[in-house]
Amino acid sequence: TAKQEGKDRYNFYAPSMHAGLIKRLDLTAELRTAIDRRDFQVHYQPIVNLPDGSLRGVEALVRWPHRTRGLVSPVEFIPLAEDTGLIVPLGADVLAEACAQVAQWRRERPGFDMTVSVNLSPRQVNDPGVVRLVRDALTATDLEPRALCLEITESVLTEDGQIAVERLIALKELGVRLAVDDFGTGYSSLSRLNQLPIDILKIPKPFVDGVTEGPTASALARAILELSSALELAVVAEGIEHPEQAEVLYNLGCRLAQGYHFGRPATAADLERRLPEPVKSVVAAGGEPLTSL
Ligand code: C2E
Ligand code: MG
Ligand code: MG
Ligand code: MG
Repeated sequence: TAKQEGKDRYNFYAPSMHAGLIKRLDLTAELRTAIDRRDFQVHYQPIVNLPDGSLRGVEALVRWPHRTRGLVSPVEFIPLAEDTGLIVPLGADVLAEACAQVAQWRRERPGFDMTVSVNLSPRQVNDPGVVRLVRDALTATDLEPRALCLEITESVLTEDGQIAVERLIALKELGVRLAVDDFGTGYSSLSRLNQLPIDILKIPKPFVDGVTEGPTASALARAILELSSALELAVVAEGIEHPEQAEVLYNLGCRLAQGYHFGRPATAADLERRLPEPVKSVVAAGGEPLTSL
């Protein structure tokens, strides 16, 4: 049978294959199955206001509950999903789920203007279908475009050609916000940054770690804050684990933050406990509108 044939072939080549490659092929196959079966979960990490820690939004972070490996971190499978193109269907699911969840939280709490940030990898931004994908996710969930922030990596900004630029402009025209994740770890030019419709810079954790380690170590975070103030961009500091880091960043002008100190990524049910009480529906259980005075 074809199955046996596949197995034989696999055995034939296995001894000469690098163990890492075999592991990669296994993982790719499992990833594909997991996408088909929708095995992935979306967790949500708070993005808070400094210094009071009040919740302003969440970042959606994908998790893979694996039958033998436990909850697999995206650090382990996103690069592979990116290389194989599987990030496109996976990312579409994450976007749809995150938009639906946050649209529901917003509907239940009128006036609570929370946002959701969703990561888009370079391969997703380069995919011509991405603009339509985002538009459809917003329409399907009735999420206000400005409540969605798309986090792109700096490598998208360094790519040559007009494609990335036009793509970002088209995304921005949907009314969403754009953030640059891990800003300063790539090689984007500052002039490029000024030409693109970017709203937010995210300070990577290593720079945040530097803020309590003296003037040299804190220079990078300070530079990003000064740059964003000059370009009128918002800033989110990532990976805050200690209150002292939050205090120093606040004194440097940073107003938004994310990190274990304020909350770890959590399931939707856990995150919900941090949200304000939902406003009771004005429609009674039977469907009859309640009459007010
Ligand atoms: P990222 O977008 O920069 O997300 C922040 C990462 O830092 C998350 O790791 C988060 O759990 C972690 N983090 C947050 N606060 C702290 C802290 O105080 N201390 C420490 N040590 N870590 C903290 P996570 O969830 O493992 O995700 C890793 C990366 O995988 C993300 O980095 C993002 O680049 C990528 N990723 C995650 N979900 C998705 C997704 O749905 N689509 C795409 N394309 N990429 C994703
Ligand atoms: Mg997750
Ligand atoms: Mg991110
Ligand atoms: Mg980041």
